[in-house]
Amino acid sequence: MSASANNASSIDALIRKLAREELVDMVPYQSARRLFASGDNEQANSKTWLNANEAPGQGKYQLNSENINRYPDFQPQALLNAYSNYCKLSVKSILATRGADEGIELIIRSFCKAYQDSILICPPTYGMYAISAENHGADVIKVPLINTTEAKCQLDLEGLKAQVGKVKVVFLCSPGNPTGNTLPQAEIKAVIEMFKDSAMVVVDEAYYEYTSEDFSADQINTKLISTYDNVIVLRTLSKAFALAGLRCGFTLASEEVITLLSKVIAPYPVPAPIAEIASQALTNDLALMQTRVINANALRTELITWLEQQNWCCEVFPSDANFVLFRCNNLSEKDTVFNLLVENNILIRDQSKQLQLENCLRISLGSEAEISQLKQLLETLK
Ligand SMILES: *Cc1c(COP(=O)(O)O)cnc(C)c1O
Repeated sequence: MSASANNASSIDALIRKLAREELVDMVPYQSARRLFASGDNEQANSKTWLNANEAPGQGKYQLNSENINRYPDFQPQALLNAYSNYCKLSVKSILATRGADEGIELIIRSFCKAYQDSILICPPTYGMYAISAENHGADVIKVPLINTTEAKCQLDLEGLKAQVGKVKVVFLCSPGNPTGNTLPQAEIKAVIEMFKDSAMVVVDEAYYEYTSEDFSADQINTKLISTYDNVIVLRTLSKAFALAGLRCGFTLASEEVITLLSKVIAPYPVPAPIAEIASQALTNDLALMQTRVINANALRTELITWLEQQNWCCEVFPSDANFVLFRCNNLSEKDTVFNLLVENNILIRDQSKQLQLENCLRISLGSEAEISQLKQLLETLK
C-alpha cells in the first residue's frame, strides 16, 4: 500500500489531535519583524525601521572560521571574560544566551511548574514575559503600573504585596519597554525584599546603557545580586551595542541560580561566530557604544520637545531608553500619524492595544537623518 500525499487538512487534524491544545490557537508574539518582515536587503534598505528599538549604524567584525567544524564551548570563555569585565560580576554569575529573550524563557522554565505556578508582570510592559509563560503553561498575574502624583508608570507596591506567596517569578522592566522610564532604585529593592523568600525578582535591563553615565561604575541592580538571593538581571547586546541581529544576551544572577538555568538551556547555546563578534564588541567597541548612546540621548531630548509641540500629540512619556512613547488625541489621529508614516516607508510601533496605552505610538531612535525625515513628514499634518 502506498501512502497518499499528505494534505493540509489532514495535517491540521493530526496537529489538533496531538499538540498541546492551548498552543493550537495561540497567537505568537507580534514582534516588530513579524508585523513587517525586512525581506531581502533591497527591501530592508528601502524602509526606515523605527519600530524595534534597534540602534542605527553597522558594525565591522572579523570572523575566524578555522574551528567551525567543532562544537563551541558551552559558555565561550572570551565572551564571559569580556562581559564580566563590563558588568563587574564574576564569570560564574553570567550566562550568555540567545538574546535576553532566551533568558526570560529559561527563568520561567526553571522556576515555574507548568499548569501550577505563576509569574507576575506589571503592564504595560515587554510582551515576551507573558508569551513565554503562556508557551510553558505558567499563569500570568498582572499588577499594572500606576500613576502617582510625582510620576507616571510606577510600581504598585501595595498591589505587589498582595501577591506575595502566589507567584514564583516577578518581572520588572527598568527602563520599561514601552513606557521608557526607569523605576526608582528604592522601589526595586522593596520588591526584592518583599519577595525574598517566595519569588525570584527579574530586573530586565535591556536599556541599561541609556540610563548610565558611567557604564562600568553604575551597575546598581547587578550589585544587588551579592546581597539578595532572589535577584536576576537581564542584559542584551541588541540595543545599545547595535547587535540585534546577533542574538546575544546575558542573564546575571548568583552562581547557584546560573547553575540551575544551565540545566535547562540547550547544550551549545552560543554559536562560535556569535561569541567571536560579541567578544569583539565588548572589548574594542565600548567607546563607540558610548558615543552611540550619547547621540541617541541627545536625539531623544529633541524628539520629546518636538512631539510636545504637535497638535495631534497630547502626552509624551519621559524616557531613559532609545525610544519615545507618546499619545495622540484620539484614535483617528493616531491612525493618521501611523499610516502617513507607513505610506512613506517609515515604520514605528503601535502600542495602543496595551493596557493604559490607548492611542499611543512608540518611535525608536534611529539615526538623526531618520528622525528628521519622520518629523518633516509629520509636520505636513499641522
Ligand atoms: C529588546 C528587549 C529584550 C530582548 O532582547 P534580545 O536580547 O534581543 O532578546 C528584552 N527585554 C526588553 C525589555 C526588551 O526591550
